[in-house]
Amino acid sequence: MKNRLYRIHHKRQPQKPADYQSIDEALKKLQKTAPPWSDYRERSLKIHGLICAKCGREFDHETRHLLTVHHKDGNHLNNPPDGSNWENLCVYCHDDEHSRELLGDYLRDEK
Ligand SMILES: [Zn+2]
Ligand SMILES: [Zn+2]
Repeated sequence: MKNRLYRIHHKRQPQKPADYQSIDEALKKLQKTAPPWSDYRERSLKIHGLICAKCGREFDHETRHLLTVHHKDGNHLNNPPDGSNWENLCVYCHDDEHSRELLGDYLRDEK
């Protein structure tokens, strides 16, 4: 029993720095082979420009993170390459757009 504990305690994991590199490589490969629609944001910004479709606010490379892509039909998996389901909205308008949808449903229910 004593012997066994001793052995377990002193068991060392072999150091394999090469493994880290292969993980890195695998990640790089993954990023390269990612399906094109996973990058729809960049695509939409390219197609529709760095401008909010609602308020017309313009963005540049420093503020572009404030511009988001809204899916017109609400389906985030519907990403036609021509950008017909995308709308570039600033974070404020995007928020507004979605709360409006909720409010719309709410008002419809009330009537
Ligand atoms: Zn806006
Ligand atoms: Zn949206």
